[in-house]
Amino acid sequence: MKTTEKLIKRIVILGGGESGVGASLLAQNKGFEVFVSDAGQILEKYKNILSENNISFEENKHTNELILSADEVIKSPGIPHKAQIIKDLQAKNIPIISEIEFAFRYTKAKIIGITGSNGKTTTTLLTYHLLKNAGLNVGLGGNIGDSFAAQVIKDEFKYYVLELSSFQLDDCFFMKPYIAVLLNITPDHLDRYNYDFEQYAAAKFRIAQAQTKEDFFVYNGFSEEITKNLFLEKVQSQKISIVVNDELPNNNSKISDVTTFANQNSIQVVFEDKKINFSEENFTIKGKHNIFNTLCAVQVAMILGISERNIKESLLTFKNAPHRLEEIAVINGITFINDSKATNVDSVFYALGSFKRTEPHIIWIVGGVDKGNEYEVLDNLVQEKVRNFVFLGKDNRKLEKHYQNNNPENHQEENESDDSKKQLKKFDKPIFQTQSIKEAIEYGFKLGKKGDIVLLSPACASFDLFQNYMDRGDQFRQNVLNLIKN
Ligand code: ADP
Repeated sequence: MKTTEKLIKRIVILGGGESGVGASLLAQNKGFEVFVSDAGQILEKYKNILSENNISFEENKHTNELILSADEVIKSPGIPHKAQIIKDLQAKNIPIISEIEFAFRYTKAKIIGITGSNGKTTTTLLTYHLLKNAGLNVGLGGNIGDSFAAQVIKDEFKYYVLELSSFQLDDCFFMKPYIAVLLNITPDHLDRYNYDFEQYAAAKFRIAQAQTKEDFFVYNGFSEEITKNLFLEKVQSQKISIVVNDELPNNNSKISDVTTFANQNSIQVVFEDKKINFSEENFTIKGKHNIFNTLCAVQVAMILGISERNIKESLLTFKNAPHRLEEIAVINGITFINDSKATNVDSVFYALGSFKRTEPHIIWIVGGVDKGNEYEVLDNLVQEKVRNFVFLGKDNRKLEKHYQNNNPENHQEENESDDSKKQLKKFDKPIFQTQSIKEAIEYGFKLGKKGDIVLLSPACASFDLFQNYMDRGDQFRQNVLNLIKN
């Protein structure tokens, strides 16, 4: 066991979801007294697992006496640190860790940890695909699929590829990935970080906090936020930067040991004395962001010694998870694309940018629960590529404010500056507003012409009209497929 902590007897797990139940099974397997507490309802399937394994639990409440008697607490990433129960635990100095930290103590496997604001799932799945196809004995976990802790009970794998969210990293301390990948840091989830971007960035950097010089840190060399932190010498491991752009940022060469570089002329991944050249045809997932994600995955594969042939063959058979620029169908020459996972502005930026045609041909379905969006960064792309807007949400005021005010008569307010008038009048494009995804699709179908794209890339969370982003994407898919049937 990799810990120097005092003797732990009783472990309490807060949150009875996939990670919590997995952690409880591992804790029980290692001989601890275990108790699971969830302030909400626990799903039937998880309650059955707990009962079958004689693990005591409570739901719809947190009983202080049962929780504050813990020697250590494993917290679900969904519970914010400002929750009262967490404050009570902190007041009693009871250590709080994540499921990932706990499971790490009991595995002999090498960890490949992948984090970032966008691209985690894609890069994690692709990395796993490359490693597995090359015959490595590799497992998949973290924010994706089965609980890492539950898998560690058997500990059969030599490697684990883990998707790690900032919430999981918040409660990691000694978890030490052999290879850490930091894809990007752009504003997201700021409500959990006191609306302080630096605090959120610090959470992401926790992925490398325990690394030493035999480990690797693969990072986005074009991200100023990342390079700025690296300059502060926060990371001890070997640094490999990935840059997909025409220029390298000035300061990058001083901090990176190696740089993998992609621009219009060449795409090349380097590791020690090996170099692999790629062309866009090698990649099945499209768009500049996905070239970046792919290069990160390839870099990991090269560090682990996987051959060029193997990597190139596997890249061609990769199929991304649904809801990420997922092409659903082409009907009457109109392509319907489900990018429901685009819940922030940055991911929409890359979605719009992935379409090569530079004239307005996209019917863009946008809207939902706004997480503090600033739409200005999309202005050029929207102007160039979007022909019609569909606002799909209960409250579209922010979108209206940014895109609807194309009629000068709507803008008579005296205190409006010339600049803001220019801004507001710019988008002379039709807008359709609805709360029905079926209507949104029908509108796109009616207005679309051959070669057009109906793109669901909402830039917002989905909870106003849907259960979650998957439900939104599934409903999009189903309604598009219904068009074919009718
Ligand atoms: P995550 O797991 O971090 O949410 P996903 O792979 O699920 O990331 O992708 C989420 C959204 O972000 C999708 O809309 C996708 O098209 C977009 N995206 C993927 N990779 C990147 C990237 N490197 N930079 C910006 N956006 C990205």
